[in-house]
Amino acid sequence: MRVLPSMVFSSVLVSLLLTGTAAAGTERLRPVPVGAAALTANPIYKAGELKLDTCPERPVRDDDFKGVTNYLNGILHCLNTSWKRQFTAAKLPFAMAKLRTIRRSGVKTGCNTFPKDAQAIYCSKDKTIVFQLDKNVLTGTSDLFLFEAIAHEYGHHVQQLSGIMTTFDSRKYRTKEDYNAASRRLELQADCLSGAFIGSVWSSLKRPASDFAYLRRIATNSPTHGKAANYSYWLNRGFRAKGPDACNTFAARSRVS
Ligand SMILES: [Zn+2]
Repeated sequence: MRVLPSMVFSSVLVSLLLTGTAAAGTERLRPVPVGAAALTANPIYKAGELKLDTCPERPVRDDDFKGVTNYLNGILHCLNTSWKRQFTAAKLPFAMAKLRTIRRSGVKTGCNTFPKDAQAIYCSKDKTIVFQLDKNVLTGTSDLFLFEAIAHEYGHHVQQLSGIMTTFDSRKYRTKEDYNAASRRLELQADCLSGAFIGSVWSSLKRPASDFAYLRRIATNSPTHGKAANYSYWLNRGFRAKGPDACNTFAARSRVS
């Protein structure tokens, strides 16, 4: 019903990868990988299961912009806490993602004007997830759509911090289909990373299995985001594994169409 493929903005700014990370222990960090190894052999894949197992949802009700923003910020806090541990384990620099909620498309973001056909975007330039809380979203806050959507956008943040997004952005694509094929791997990976986070905190959500089953059904086929069946596959694959090792879509031979 209100499911549109979330979009991702490209950015080729590499320098920001290292900003905000000059903390104690920095010298033990490894450089952010680039190139083919960033996609298929990224150290973030080997960081193990997500360790944070509790992320209680804040109370939320329909038609309450502030309340939904608060609900999303609660989940963002969990995502930042959980993924920070993964980056520490992978010895990669980490930076928090931020959230901005807006009422309608067309407003300026750190990357571009918020597009009409998107529900949420991740802007790598300012590491901000911009979420459009339009009427449609505000009238259906009880299911897990919001939870999945912000975890998906956070997946793009993970890709940005780990060099996956930069590599994706800097590649030359000869045809539109070449680009779409790479985009599908990127988006299906974000779905899987979202599933991994949801799976890791699942028992704390006290949700019936039908709520996750619903999430698996809400995608539509998209040339840049993949087939609905593949979205469902990668979301569930991450959910079961509870960690990013299951999410190497760039090495996958199937289920990336
Ligand atoms: Zn996306």
